[in-house]
Amino acid sequence: MNAEPGEKHIIIGTAGHVDHGKTQLVKRLTGIDTDRLKEEKERGISIELGFAPLRLPSGLLAGLVDVPGHERFVKHMLAGASGIDLVLLVVAADEGVMPQTREHLDIIHLLGIPRGLIVITKKDLVDEELLLLVEEEVRETVQGTILAEAPLLAVSALTGEGIPELLAAIDQVGREVREKEAAGRARLPIDRVFSITGFGTVVTGTLFSGRLRVGTAVEILPEGLTSRIRTLQVHGHKVDTASAGQRVAVNLSGLAVADIARGSVLAEPGWLQPSFRLDVHLELLPHVAKPLKNWTRVRFHLGTKEALGRVLLLEAEELEAGRHGYAQLVMEEPVVADRRDRFVLRAYSPMVTIGGGSVIDPVPPKRKRFQEEVIAGLATRERGTPEEILLQYLLQQRGLVKAEEAESSSGLSSAELEQAVRELAGEERIIRLTLEGQRFLVHPEVYVTWQEELRELLEQFHRQHPLRAGISKEEVRSRLFKQIPVKTFNALLQIWGELGGIEQTGQILARHGFRPHLPQEQQAAVERLLAIYEQSGWQPPSWLEAAVQAGIPEREQEEVLAYLLQQRRLIKMADDLLITAERLAEGKRQIEEFLQQQEAVTIAEARDLLGSSRKVVLPLLEYLDREKVTRRVGDKRVRF
Ligand code: GDP
Ligand code: MG
Repeated sequence: MNAEPGEKHIIIGTAGHVDHGKTQLVKRLTGIDTDRLKEEKERGISIELGFAPLRLPSGLLAGLVDVPGHERFVKHMLAGASGIDLVLLVVAADEGVMPQTREHLDIIHLLGIPRGLIVITKKDLVDEELLLLVEEEVRETVQGTILAEAPLLAVSALTGEGIPELLAAIDQVGREVREKEAAGRARLPIDRVFSITGFGTVVTGTLFSGRLRVGTAVEILPEGLTSRIRTLQVHGHKVDTASAGQRVAVNLSGLAVADIARGSVLAEPGWLQPSFRLDVHLELLPHVAKPLKNWTRVRFHLGTKEALGRVLLLEAEELEAGRHGYAQLVMEEPVVADRRDRFVLRAYSPMVTIGGGSVIDPVPPKRKRFQEEVIAGLATRERGTPEEILLQYLLQQRGLVKAEEAESSSGLSSAELEQAVRELAGEERIIRLTLEGQRFLVHPEVYVTWQEELRELLEQFHRQHPLRAGISKEEVRSRLFKQIPVKTFNALLQIWGELGGIEQTGQILARHGFRPHLPQEQQAAVERLLAIYEQSGWQPPSWLEAAVQAGIPEREQEEVLAYLLQQRRLIKMADDLLITAERLAEGKRQIEEFLQQQEAVTIAEARDLLGSSRKVVLPLLEYLDREKVTRRVGDKRVRF
């Protein structure tokens, strides 16, 4: 019985107390003895543990997973339950509801298995009256759970009574099952690892989402191993592709059985990330004996994985029976989860199911307790629309987020993300930027804050350093935009430059329209300084002398000098030889005039002409040479 490509597959699981007739029922429905298969598993890859395919009357293809019911097998029940679409809760008519019936029901409820049927078995062993009593008891037990409204049927696997009706009922409910996300990315929680001579390592599990294809690369997490799919089997047949909902055996190349553990995840590479922490919405079962205290050690079950960890209650001192709240699970080993995954918690000892819930953030940061912002954030991630979730994610990131990065970390599927971006962009509630060919998303609040911070920084800088042209780009980046790469930052500045807020000259940034200027309180001192230079004629003082005499404080001297040079009020003719622009123009005029009457001018003549010294005149003449006013011939100067 092979599946057609693209055909819907549903997985049906059995649950219920030991010896209540689950295996017998599966055998009656499918003709396969899952107990016998277990013994025959050595025979080869085609034999799937406790698994039996079933073609329903309508043609719908189902796979039955027969899960053992004994207490010590609850673990296996949990493992088998990953990926179950429809559960058959089996209760023997002669015994009624038993402890494991209740625990399995709890697990079904906590895992949110979408649909189910209640099957009273061994109908042949009781009379009508007792059957009614058992039915009543079961109905009472399932009250308030996912199975509260589930159809209830009584059958005998021995005589076959009620079996056609049961098949019809399964068919009916099965058709209502929503198909698994074959479009999503492939994830297979591994429930068995073994090796077959001549084939190598094989893993099995129910394909939770996406597709697997022969020849493609996969990764095993949390081990972080990569491999390639050598062959694939679905329902015991070799196939090229397997899709969500199918029971799959995957033959992996290059890996040893010892490399992989049951409980690990086989996935399309690059989208899942192991984590020691999970943010979750947690629900404590109504009938637990005592409240759950913060930091209690628990057994965590997700997919086929069991791990030990502790519960950090984020919004309560302790969680009472039947109550729910947000928590961070802190594991003792890394686990692999996706947003919305359901999990179950069992007490460390005794090993009873106490609660469960759903994953909100599979790779969260370390959380502190009782933080309003954290709790509000989790509520949005849990219940918000994709738009709300995206906005909150962008706000938390406080920066430019690459579009691909948003896809892998926001918890939204690519379709949800695309839709959310479109909606938000239409309402101008998100900013999309393409920088250096890379697509980015930014929360408008973050974007506006950035611009404000930059404006503020420039203003502050201009106030503090009115004599300087502006602040260096690198300083701005290291102070405000450290997390943004240089290239991206430059691209961002370009956009802001075009918007008109800032001006960029070389490596210097300034507020648009800013010009360096002398602040009022410095004006008098600078006037004094220039007067000192003017009065000293061709015997200018050193910069330090002049500055001290003019009363310019030491910390301002460097900046004032840079400003005066930049403004060309003072000209630097040689090291520590400054002269006012007016004096220089005057000197130039006098030399030119001299050269109109004389052929040439010597250093001594120039010194006498200006009433200066050799120390000043030599640099002056060299300056005029550079300015192409004079030209040196031997030790004289002639007109250029
Ligand atoms: P499981 O542990 O739930 O898988 O239970 P099994 O399917 O192994 O059944 C336990 C015992 O109950 C076996 O001896 C079965 O033959 C018997 N049994 C199962 N179904 C029926 C039934 O409908 N009628 C009767 N009389 N016996 C049944
Ligand atoms: Mg059994």
